[in-house]
Amino acid sequence: MRALDLSGISEADIRACKEIATEAGVDLKDCYQCGKCTAGCPLAEGMDLMPREVIRFLQLGALDVVLDAKTPWICAQCAVCSSRCPQNVDICSTMRAVRIAAKRAGKRPVPEADIFDDEFIANVRAHGVSNEQYLAAMYNLKSGHFTQDMGNATRMLKRRMVGVAIHNTKGRAEVAALIDRALGADEGGE
Ligand code: SF4
Ligand code: SF4
Repeated sequence: MRALDLSGISEADIRACKEIATEAGVDLKDCYQCGKCTAGCPLAEGMDLMPREVIRFLQLGALDVVLDAKTPWICAQCAVCSSRCPQNVDICSTMRAVRIAAKRAGKRPVPEADIFDDEFIANVRAHGVSNEQYLAAMYNLKSGHFTQDMGNATRMLKRRMVGVAIHNTKGRAEVAALIDRALGADEGGE
């Protein structure tokens, strides 16, 4: 674990960390730092903080360390960590709650992940399902990675894995309403 100067941590930081945990339904006192979550995480290698460390820094009230971490944005929400935890700490939900808190604070340590999420949600909101070809195009445009995965596009088109037609579901208005409700809740609207 990286060295940390605890003198910079304020009461407000400690409160904010507790609020993040509460939003995730987690009692930070439950974690005894056994590391089983980290040992099972398929993406730990690419993370700047291990899942166990995210919980530890929250316990310490090190708000900025947690909000500036790339880990919650790299997290695939697979929930392996939560299922392995002997204390039933929901690390997976904690990652999500950290991400929401970071976004509220105007931080997005992995902008590509944020762009992809926003485009995916906009795509599903508009059509009721994800239209991958347009999702990929919008992501490439907005992220500036203009040619990312373009090598696969021709092959996928040939094999009809993707096409140019836009698919809409019958219940897309309901899907849009559900998304609006969830986004309202994320922004503290519910
Ligand atoms: S598995 Fe659970 S108790 Fe162990 S370090 Fe991770 S969160 Fe803490
Ligand atoms: S939910 Fe995230 S942190 Fe947990 S195991 Fe999966 S990728 Fe790792």
